[in-house]
Amino acid sequence: MRGLMSPISAMTFPWPRRPILSQRFSRVLILGVLLSDLFIAGIVALSLSQGLVQERNQAEVTTDNLSKVLEESIIGLIGGIDLTLLSVRDEVERQEAAGGIDAKAIEAVLARQDARIPGALGLRVVDAQGVIRHAVTGVVVSQASIADRPQFIRMRDDPQAGLVISKPVFGRAAQKWMVTLSRRLDNPDGTFAGDVHVAVTLDYFTKSFAALQLGPQGAVSLWDDSPSILARYSAAGGFLNQAGSVTPSRELLDLITSKAASSPYLATSGADGVARRFAFRKVGDYPLYLTVGLAEDDYLADWRRDAWRMIGLTVLFILATVLAARILLRSWRHRLEYTAALESAKTAAEEARYRSDLILASAGEGICGVDPQGSIVFVNAAAREMLGWAADEGIGLNLHQTTHHHHADGSEYALCDCPTFKTAHDGETRHVADDVFWRKDGTPVRVAFTAAAIRKDREIVGAVTIFRDITDQRHLQDSLREKMLELDTILDNSSVGISYVKDRRQVWANRRMGEMFGYSLEEMADQSTSMFYTTPEAYERGADGYQTLAQGERFTTEQEMRRRDGSHVWMRISGKLIPSGHSIGGSIWVFEDISDRRRAEEVQARNAAMLAQKNQELEQFAYVASHDLRQPLRMVSSYLTLIERRLAGRLDDDERLFIGFAVDGAKRMDRMIVDLLDYSRIGRDPVGKSMISLEEVMLSAIGNLEAAISDVDAVVTVRSALPELPGYGSELERLFQNLIANGIKFRAADRRPEVTILCREEPQDWIVSVSDNGIGIAPKDYPRLFAVFQRLVSQEQYQGNGIGLAACRKIAEHHDGRIWVESEVGTGSTFHVALPKAPSNYCDSASKHPAKAP
Ligand code: ADP
Repeated sequence: MRGLMSPISAMTFPWPRRPILSQRFSRVLILGVLLSDLFIAGIVALSLSQGLVQERNQAEVTTDNLSKVLEESIIGLIGGIDLTLLSVRDEVERQEAAGGIDAKAIEAVLARQDARIPGALGLRVVDAQGVIRHAVTGVVVSQASIADRPQFIRMRDDPQAGLVISKPVFGRAAQKWMVTLSRRLDNPDGTFAGDVHVAVTLDYFTKSFAALQLGPQGAVSLWDDSPSILARYSAAGGFLNQAGSVTPSRELLDLITSKAASSPYLATSGADGVARRFAFRKVGDYPLYLTVGLAEDDYLADWRRDAWRMIGLTVLFILATVLAARILLRSWRHRLEYTAALESAKTAAEEARYRSDLILASAGEGICGVDPQGSIVFVNAAAREMLGWAADEGIGLNLHQTTHHHHADGSEYALCDCPTFKTAHDGETRHVADDVFWRKDGTPVRVAFTAAAIRKDREIVGAVTIFRDITDQRHLQDSLREKMLELDTILDNSSVGISYVKDRRQVWANRRMGEMFGYSLEEMADQSTSMFYTTPEAYERGADGYQTLAQGERFTTEQEMRRRDGSHVWMRISGKLIPSGHSIGGSIWVFEDISDRRRAEEVQARNAAMLAQKNQELEQFAYVASHDLRQPLRMVSSYLTLIERRLAGRLDDDERLFIGFAVDGAKRMDRMIVDLLDYSRIGRDPVGKSMISLEEVMLSAIGNLEAAISDVDAVVTVRSALPELPGYGSELERLFQNLIANGIKFRAADRRPEVTILCREEPQDWIVSVSDNGIGIAPKDYPRLFAVFQRLVSQEQYQGNGIGLAACRKIAEHHDGRIWVESEVGTGSTFHVALPKAPSNYCDSASKHPAKAP
């Protein structure tokens, strides 16, 4: 617990970094091995390549030297033969100049000279015609001319030809390839006199080839400038003295045609396909060329052996270093793992201590450890703060005597009663919900605490007290309790039922809720809300309400619910979700008994239905009555007319006038009955509403009034565009026809009647107004204006029966609209008709749009 003294900021934990170290070491080791191996391999490669270059240079020098030696040897041979040929030529020319050839002497010379050339097949002297004149004795000579031989022709034609060497030919007698070496003979005047020549087998020149040390696959060849091989010697294949038997390699061909004197070259032999390093050399001034070749396999054999050995050693070295590195790495890792394990054990221990220090230091609760005597062995910062102690205070003090010596009421607190002290002895854990500890300054602090035993190897070595200041919490609880009481009172006295529901189970309800449903609060507690529903189906439907709530909306409905005694009661129900944290906790439902209102509404609805029924009956009656009334009326008027016709001439003026009144009355009554009949028919349209063009309706209404308009020279003007709206065409036509007709009828005597039609739009309605400049209506008469048979003027002044405006109102109401008037006596009147834009779905439209006069 020493860590308690260290500030939290200094407690940064030193996390281990071993893996990085280990990686670095592995990397350095691998890199070192790689570099040293690369270095060794580089050195080996360098020395091998240098050895290779050396070997090649050596081969080049060797072949060059050998070719030089061979050249000299061949030049010596040819020079010897030439010397012989020149001696013979001189002798022949001398004798010729001395007056004639002594054949015997010449032949003796020939024989003597011939003996000097071991490979010679006999010296001969030929005349200008190519016929052999002298030859070594004993040599069989054909008498045929050699004038057609190329070398002969060349000498004949070229006095400066010098020594001419022929192309190789196969000597049938000798069964060998041979060449002829010739020198020209001149007459004293310089003209061609023939030649002296000798045939020499090719092996004469090449037998020295075999003496060369060229290794198992070395080869020497002699070529002429055709180029054609004259002779070849290889250790493996022996001599080949057969002209033209080998094709020259490309490289050789180039050298011969370029007439180079000497040059090294690398080629694969045309004879045996072996790759060799050659020295090429032209033999003196003769058209002969030497190639001396050392096979790569021969001169590189040693180097290759050494190379393989060195490569083998290098590979061994690399393997050894890699192996060593592996072993080193593994042992290093083992060591690291071992130290890591050691360190992590240490770290874990430190970490645990660090954490416990941290927990102690950062805990909000006061934590204080005591030994069995009650002396404090550790104490955290929160405890010190609560008890008013300095940062270094506490350790060694007796906890009970310092902080727990008196009860809250001031009475002494015996040590043997102290829960912490008891726990330090019996090991039992103790919780105290409300107690006081005493601060250093003598003031009490209200605490709740837990005392738990500290054990070491199962033995109790003390106790730890974990305590917290509950002063604020107590205050809060007290005030909360008060508030709750207040709330309880409010809820209990509420006029509405309130219920808290969770998972459709009633968790809590107020008193009013119980009263409304006839249950005690205990009976409702934790019961399914299905008890309030009239049927299981209604309960199922109730789930919709929860659905609405879950979507975050309030839910309100009116529903019939069941009371405990089975009776039904109408409730207005509103619900609201109560979230708890992020999830839904439950829902609050407010119930309001609306049975009285519902009953009143039901009575009203019943009355309305009754009224409608009565109205219908009345209309039926009016219809039947008016229909049946017309018959006797027609009889009255037709019989009166008949009487008048029969008594024509016998009636005086008064009688005629009376009969006229009677007929007129009957006719008016008939008119009234017809109008009444029409009035009763309004609203009986079986077809239903359709979209009506008000313009067409208006034009038709005006058209119907054409005669009346022209009779009084009236002006009827439609000032606004008229809309389309849902309605009954014939009824609307009648409405506007009545209004326009009234505007014309109730005209002022002193002015020309003018009727103006206007239309304006309101959010829900179209307002169509029909204005006139007639006599006007007094405001006191507005209320009775739209009632049936109500007239404000006398029949004598203005004829009519008082049904027109009543019909207008009925039509307006049938359209869910209304009609009213604005007027000024003596100036004119304006009748306004409001007609809804959209078709109405309400059955109680009459109450929604009551016809009212302002
Ligand atoms: P009638 O026209 O047959 O008299 P109405 O029901 O159309 O019956 O009209 C009722 C009464 O309202 C009329 O008798 C008249 O006194 C008054 N009235 C109606 N329209 C006008 C108007 N445009 N100007 C003045 N008074 C009118």
